Amino acid sequence: MVIDALVRHAASMLTDNARFEAEQIVTHILGISRTELITNPRRTVTDDEVKRVDETAARRAGGEPLQYILGETEFMSLPFKVNRSTLIPRSDTETLVEHVLEHMNGKACEILDVGAGTGCIGISLTHYNQNARVTELDISFDALNTARENAEINGVSDRTEFIKADILNEIPDGAYDIIVSNPPYIETAVIGTLQTEVKDYEPISALDGGEDGLTFYRRISEIAPKMLKKGGLLAFEIGFDQGESVKKLMEKNFKDVRIIKDLCGNDRVVSGRGA
Ligand code: GLN
Repeated sequence: MVIDALVRHAASMLTDNARFEAEQIVTHILGISRTELITNPRRTVTDDEVKRVDETAARRAGGEPLQYILGETEFMSLPFKVNRSTLIPRSDTETLVEHVLEHMNGKACEILDVGAGTGCIGISLTHYNQNARVTELDISFDALNTARENAEINGVSDRTEFIKADILNEIPDGAYDIIVSNPPYIETAVIGTLQTEVKDYEPISALDGGEDGLTFYRRISEIAPKMLKKGGLLAFEIGFDQGESVKKLMEKNFKDVRIIKDLCGNDRVVSGRGA
């Protein structure tokens, strides 16, 4: 079989973005770039490669997210390892990163990233602002190990620290310029209605925001003043319909609270400055 036929074979097994995902599977298993795949469609592949592509496409067809199968994804144009202990980074979250990058404007900043997961937020902030340092906080030891690996891959280990803590019951030490978080924000009752890829594969602890979805916003905006330097920034990612509720929560302790939209025009970030 040749590369082109292998891509078509894999695509025939898939449904969402079939051609695109088939190309991702084939390039990953053959260890080639997309350019090579396109410029060399008649190269012969081995039986073993066909078998591995076939197995991978079958897993994907069963609903497992491609990012978990391949073990990697891209966020802010940077590579990140992912596994089932971490949420898969979403392009929506780039709105939060862009907002904080704009706020820092290249200045030296100490950042706390609450609910690190893969570390995608804090790591891209330190990658794109060489004067920033980040502390990645998560309740999951496995997630922190993944974040540590990602800090290494992206060359920011020397400016990254890791804390294992339960933010709902502990208050980390430190005085930060910025606290950033994409906390779990789905209402508990809604989780069962989400697509298979999310509800059956992503960690519940990274999704479940309690009965009204606001548990983490309530807690973090309450304790953030203890962890922020004077005038520091608290910036959250939010669900598209949580803008007004989170703004109201934050206004108890923060000023200049604003809602920022993502590229699709949905409310996506709420941020404010400490007193
Ligand atoms: N900070 C990580 C992300 O944005 C994880 C967020 C989470 O698990 N809720 O992908």
